[in-house]
Amino acid sequence: MDTSLTPVLVSACLLGRACRYDGGHNRDVVLDEQLAARGERAVPVCPEDAGGLGTPRPAAWMTGAAAEVLAGCARVVDVHGRDVTAQFVAGADLAVEVARAAGARRAYLKERSPSCGVAASHRVNGAGASEAQSGPGVTAQRLLDAGLEVHGVEGRRVHEDHDEHHHDTAQRNAADPNAQEQGATNRGSDAPRNEP
Ligand code: SF4
Repeated sequence: MDTSLTPVLVSACLLGRACRYDGGHNRDVVLDEQLAARGERAVPVCPEDAGGLGTPRPAAWMTGAAAEVLAGCARVVDVHGRDVTAQFVAGADLAVEVARAAGARRAYLKERSPSCGVAASHRVNGAGASEAQSGPGVTAQRLLDAGLEVHGVEGRRVHEDHDEHHHDTAQRNAADPNAQEQGATNRGSDAPRNEP
């Protein structure tokens, strides 16, 4: 391990780990390049897998805002109606532990996930269906609450010069709570409809 590099927490699926709910990944080559250019070392975490849900797992979404989930006022349910709130919160807590153990003060997280989404995350809409809505997922919210600087990454970029989705979103901690770029929500026609 190169101790001259700055540790940063990264959604494991962005690094190519096959930990998505469907067993796939969101490998992002541009993120790799950006981390190297900034002298950052990726510390991977998949909160849903680590929280006890394993991979693959049913798609899931929040019934309210992440802050409400963490406060016990909303839940996370999967496509079968199973309550997986405890696993999502456990995964968020583990992500904070991993960040603290590594000394990471910044995180790059996969957009739209009900765990990792930053500008947007999957929640139930008024019609009872899941859709990406503004606001962070459970882990992103927990990391923000812990004081980390959190950036949303679209994922799956091959090269910045040929990519139309290279504008990552960012949400910083309480020192700059308005830094969120809402425009990233649902960007990209190739984006899966549910991407835990
Ligand atoms: S976006 Fe989903 S698959 Fe990727 S690290 Fe987060 S919880 Fe895991």
